[in-house]
Amino acid sequence: MLSVEEAIQRIERAFSPLGAELISLDQALGRVLAEPLDARLTQPPADVSAMDGYAVRAADVETLPAKLKIVQRIAAGQPPSGSIGAGEAARIFTGAQVPPGADTIVIQENCDEADDHVTVREGDRRLGQHIRKAGLDFATGDIALHSGRRLTARDISLAAAMNRPWLKVTRRPRIALLSTGDELVNPGDPVGPAQIIGSNGIGLAALVRAFGGEPVNLGIARDTLEDLDRAIEAALGFDMLVTSGGASVGEHDLVQTALTKRGMQLGFWKIAMRPGKPLMFGTLDKLRVLGMPGNPVSTIVTALLFLRPSIDRMSGLSGVDPAREVALLGKAMPANDMRQDYVRARLVTDSEGRRMATPFSPQDSSMLSLIARADCLIVRKPHAPEAKAGDMVDIIPLSGGCWSV
Ligand code: AMP
Ligand code: MG
Repeated sequence: MLSVEEAIQRIERAFSPLGAELISLDQALGRVLAEPLDARLTQPPADVSAMDGYAVRAADVETLPAKLKIVQRIAAGQPPSGSIGAGEAARIFTGAQVPPGADTIVIQENCDEADDHVTVREGDRRLGQHIRKAGLDFATGDIALHSGRRLTARDISLAAAMNRPWLKVTRRPRIALLSTGDELVNPGDPVGPAQIIGSNGIGLAALVRAFGGEPVNLGIARDTLEDLDRAIEAALGFDMLVTSGGASVGEHDLVQTALTKRGMQLGFWKIAMRPGKPLMFGTLDKLRVLGMPGNPVSTIVTALLFLRPSIDRMSGLSGVDPAREVALLGKAMPANDMRQDYVRARLVTDSEGRRMATPFSPQDSSMLSLIARADCLIVRKPHAPEAKAGDMVDIIPLSGGCWSV
């Protein structure tokens, strides 16, 4: 059996970034930049006022009160009409350009205005105060967003301010999803006495979307080589095929046989982990294939660990950590065997701000009700010794943040 770390490394090595496409900025949330983004202009374009008030010369307001003549009024969007001389001031509003000659803004709350004059009564008047210098935020040619970055809403605001309405991003990976099993029917279909709902297809599609890929659900294949082969044929044009079920060693587990018959080169099969041991990875021409176990919790956990980095690599993201964090253990756990455990747990923050992860029991890998309720997975290394309540453990949070699953 392969270790989880080795399997993740092998998977990451098997993928490279896909080609780029041009998209409009309003479609860019969560996409990965395929080019460095430089500013097309300088922001602010000139020195501007950060407050509503009066643009003055600091030398004129050293002693207060100071009475100055108002020679112009400048709102945001209007260029100044001239410069400010000694004993003069300009009425100015937030975002308006500071006129030549002025070097300080005094705020309107500290002034009285009457008959084209302003009297500065009180307050700070340090040289340069409340002036945003040209280029404070960025200057033409500055690279503010780097290639390989997954764009946040904040990045989108920045790109807009840099006058970049179109962006080059990595194409979304197209992922074909195939469920397998004679017992499965689609949600909403009639359910026979020995049948269950196939939940992995629709659940994996949601995960693929959350990871930034484009899912196409190929439906359910029966446990026959013919039906599996038909479905594999349909997946050939995709970037990746993800199967669920039929991955183990039972006589109805035919996924690997069907793929090998088609010419798949097996990369590896079986990982020292729980849940998810029968995971398989292979290559069929250009198609990468991830064969997941059918138990719904195993499917979700292996998707977090192996499908997410596959999509990350194809999207142009590099070296993304599986968001490993730590918490205190809420309940003692026994020593572990040779498999790395991913234990469904509740995560609570106590009154002193400490995070406590408490494992659920049972940990059956068929139980969707528990993985749906879990806040995190506790990661238990192979051969980890017994752990006491209060010990520090590694966790993978399942909720919170932009890529919450
Ligand atoms: P398998 O890997 O095919 O042996 O399946 C392991 C277990 O997962 C069996 O109990 C299957 O019924 C169940 N299973 C397989 N595929 C799905 C699915 N798409 N949705 C829900 N359960 C499934
Ligand atoms: Mg099966």
